[in-house]
Amino acid sequence: MSDTDNTPESAPNDGSGDAETPGADEAYCADCGEVIKKEAEICPECGVRQKPSDTPTDQQQQPTQQATVGHRQRELEKIANENKTAVMLMSFFLTPVGYWMIGKTGLALINFFTFNYFLLGPLIVPFHCHKIMEDAKDELRRSGVEGY
Ligand SMILES: [Zn+2]
Repeated sequence: MSDTDNTPESAPNDGSGDAETPGADEAYCADCGEVIKKEAEICPECGVRQKPSDTPTDQQQQPTQQATVGHRQRELEKIANENKTAVMLMSFFLTPVGYWMIGKTGLALINFFTFNYFLLGPLIVPFHCHKIMEDAKDELRRSGVEGY
Protein backbone atom coordinates (compact mmCIF):
# COMPACT_ATOMS: atom_id res chain seq x y z
CA MET A 1 0.00 0.00 0.00
CA SER A 2 2.78 2.43 0.86
CA ASP A 3 4.81 1.91 -2.31
CA THR A 4 5.55 5.58 -2.68
CA ASP A 5 7.39 5.64 0.67
CA ASN A 6 9.95 3.00 -0.42
CA THR A 7 11.14 4.74 -3.56
CA PRO A 8 14.67 6.13 -3.24
CA GLU A 9 15.27 9.82 -3.24
CA SER A 10 15.13 10.43 -6.94
CA ALA A 11 12.88 13.40 -6.85
CA PRO A 12 13.51 15.49 -9.93
CA ASN A 13 15.02 18.85 -9.20
CA ASP A 14 13.65 21.02 -11.89
CA GLY A 15 16.68 23.13 -12.67
CA SER A 16 17.35 24.14 -9.10
CA GLY A 17 21.10 23.58 -9.63
CA ASP A 18 21.89 20.41 -7.68
CA ALA A 19 22.14 17.84 -10.47
CA GLU A 20 23.01 14.35 -9.23
CA THR A 21 24.07 12.72 -12.50
CA PRO A 22 26.83 14.21 -14.68
CA GLY A 23 25.90 15.20 -18.20
CA ALA A 24 28.05 14.82 -21.32
CA ASP A 25 30.33 17.70 -20.42
CA GLU A 26 30.23 17.10 -16.69
CA ALA A 27 32.17 14.93 -14.24
CA TYR A 28 32.38 14.20 -10.53
CA CYS A 29 34.79 16.23 -8.44
CA ALA A 30 37.77 14.07 -7.42
CA ASP A 31 37.47 15.32 -3.85
CA CYS A 32 33.90 16.09 -2.83
CA GLY A 33 32.05 14.19 -5.56
CA GLU A 34 30.01 17.15 -6.65
CA VAL A 35 28.99 17.24 -10.31
CA ILE A 36 31.12 19.87 -11.99
CA LYS A 37 32.08 20.88 -15.52
CA LYS A 38 34.60 18.48 -17.13
CA GLU A 39 36.89 21.32 -18.21
CA ALA A 40 36.78 22.90 -14.75
CA GLU A 41 40.30 23.10 -13.34
CA ILE A 42 39.12 23.80 -9.83
CA CYS A 43 35.96 22.48 -8.23
CA PRO A 44 33.64 25.41 -7.51
CA GLU A 45 32.19 23.51 -4.53
CA CYS A 46 35.28 22.59 -2.53
CA GLY A 47 38.06 24.43 -4.37
CA VAL A 48 40.16 21.31 -5.00
CA ARG A 49 42.18 21.28 -8.21
CA GLN A 50 41.05 18.55 -10.63
CA LYS A 51 43.65 16.26 -12.21
CA PRO A 52 42.63 15.01 -15.64
CA SER A 53 43.96 11.54 -16.44
CA ASP A 54 45.44 12.50 -19.79
CA THR A 55 47.55 15.64 -19.69
CA PRO A 56 48.93 16.57 -23.11
CA THR A 57 51.57 18.81 -21.50
CA ASP A 58 53.52 15.75 -20.29
CA GLN A 59 53.85 14.41 -23.82
CA GLN A 60 55.00 17.76 -25.15
CA GLN A 61 57.94 17.97 -22.77
CA GLN A 62 60.18 15.34 -24.37
CA PRO A 63 60.49 16.82 -27.88
CA THR A 64 61.22 20.19 -26.28
CA GLN A 65 64.11 18.66 -24.34
CA GLN A 66 65.52 17.05 -27.46
CA ALA A 67 65.29 20.34 -29.29
CA THR A 68 67.23 21.99 -26.48
CA VAL A 69 69.98 19.37 -26.72
CA GLY A 70 70.17 19.86 -30.48
CA HIS A 71 70.32 23.61 -30.03
CA ARG A 72 73.17 23.25 -27.50
CA GLN A 73 75.11 21.01 -29.87
CA ARG A 74 74.73 23.45 -32.74
CA GLU A 75 75.94 26.25 -30.48
CA LEU A 76 79.02 24.21 -29.46
CA GLU A 77 79.76 23.28 -33.06
CA LYS A 78 79.58 26.94 -34.04
CA ILE A 79 82.13 27.79 -31.33
CA ALA A 80 84.42 24.84 -32.10
CA ASN A 81 84.35 25.41 -35.87
CA GLU A 82 85.48 29.03 -35.58
CA ASN A 83 89.06 29.66 -36.73
CA LYS A 84 91.04 29.58 -33.51
CA THR A 85 93.90 31.75 -34.75
CA ALA A 86 91.51 34.37 -36.07
CA VAL A 87 89.57 34.45 -32.82
CA MET A 88 92.72 34.74 -30.71
CA LEU A 89 94.15 37.49 -32.91
CA MET A 90 90.86 39.35 -32.91
CA SER A 91 90.51 39.02 -29.15
CA PHE A 92 93.99 40.50 -28.75
CA PHE A 93 93.38 43.60 -30.84
CA LEU A 94 89.61 43.99 -30.52
CA THR A 95 88.70 41.97 -27.45
CA PRO A 96 84.88 42.21 -27.59
CA VAL A 97 84.93 41.09 -31.23
CA GLY A 98 86.80 37.92 -30.21
CA TYR A 99 84.02 37.05 -27.79
CA TRP A 100 81.40 38.01 -30.33
CA MET A 101 82.96 35.68 -32.94
CA ILE A 102 82.36 32.66 -30.72
CA GLY A 103 78.85 33.78 -29.84
CA LYS A 104 79.62 35.12 -26.36
CA THR A 105 77.77 38.38 -26.83
CA GLY A 106 77.25 38.76 -23.08
CA LEU A 107 80.98 38.48 -22.40
CA ALA A 108 81.67 40.88 -25.25
CA LEU A 109 79.41 43.47 -23.61
CA ILE A 110 80.97 42.93 -20.16
CA ASN A 111 84.42 43.29 -21.69
CA PHE A 112 83.38 46.44 -23.52
CA PHE A 113 81.81 48.10 -20.49
CA THR A 114 84.67 47.22 -18.12
CA PHE A 115 86.97 49.13 -20.49
CA ASN A 116 88.55 45.93 -21.83
CA TYR A 117 88.80 44.30 -18.38
CA PHE A 118 90.56 47.42 -17.12
CA LEU A 119 93.04 47.15 -19.99
CA LEU A 120 94.03 43.59 -19.07
CA GLY A 121 91.81 42.21 -21.85
CA PRO A 122 94.61 41.48 -24.37
CA LEU A 123 96.30 39.31 -21.74
CA ILE A 124 93.14 37.50 -20.68
CA VAL A 125 90.67 37.32 -23.54
CA PRO A 126 92.72 35.37 -26.15
CA PHE A 127 93.26 32.60 -23.59
CA HIS A 128 89.69 32.81 -22.36
CA CYS A 129 88.43 32.47 -25.94
CA HIS A 130 90.86 29.60 -26.50
CA LYS A 131 89.53 27.86 -23.38
CA ILE A 132 85.90 28.38 -24.42
CA MET A 133 86.63 26.84 -27.83
CA GLU A 134 88.54 23.90 -26.32
CA ASP A 135 85.73 23.32 -23.80
CA ALA A 136 83.21 23.31 -26.63
CA LYS A 137 85.26 20.70 -28.49
CA ASP A 138 85.61 18.64 -25.30
CA GLU A 139 81.87 18.66 -24.73
CA LEU A 140 81.23 17.67 -28.36
CA ARG A 141 83.77 14.85 -28.07
CA ARG A 142 82.20 13.64 -24.84
CA SER A 143 78.72 13.59 -26.36
CA GLY A 144 80.07 11.49 -29.23
CA VAL A 145 79.88 13.98 -32.08
CA GLU A 146 82.15 12.95 -34.99
CA GLY A 147 85.04 15.10 -36.13
CA TYR A 148 86.20 16.77 -32.87
ZN1 LIG B 1 34.83 19.40 -5.03
